[in-house]
Amino acid sequence: MINYKTYLIFLFGSLAVSIGLQMLLPFPYGLIAALAIFIVFPLFLRNRAMKRMGGMGSDGGSGAGGFFGQSQGVKYICLACNNKYKGGMCPRCGSKMKRADF
Ligand SMILES: [Zn+2]
Repeated sequence: MINYKTYLIFLFGSLAVSIGLQMLLPFPYGLIAALAIFIVFPLFLRNRAMKRMGGMGSDGGSGAGGFFGQSQGVKYICLACNNKYKGGMCPRCGSKMKRADF
């Protein structure tokens, strides 16, 4: 599960890379490459996080979903069969209808 700390590490990593690019490449190209990294990296991380969550990108989105994704111990209760489980969908009946159990 992707968390805020990892995101910051990647952010500072891409910052360092972009500074390196400024030094390696002539002015406009270095800036463009740095901007590309800043745009592509978060998108890439978000897509990966969504895939791990079982493709439930519709609810949660970026902010709230990422925040709740931090707590590793969140369990869900299946609304169809009351099975407790972790992850995207119920392993017993395959239903995605669920509620969080804190
Ligand atoms: Zn179920």
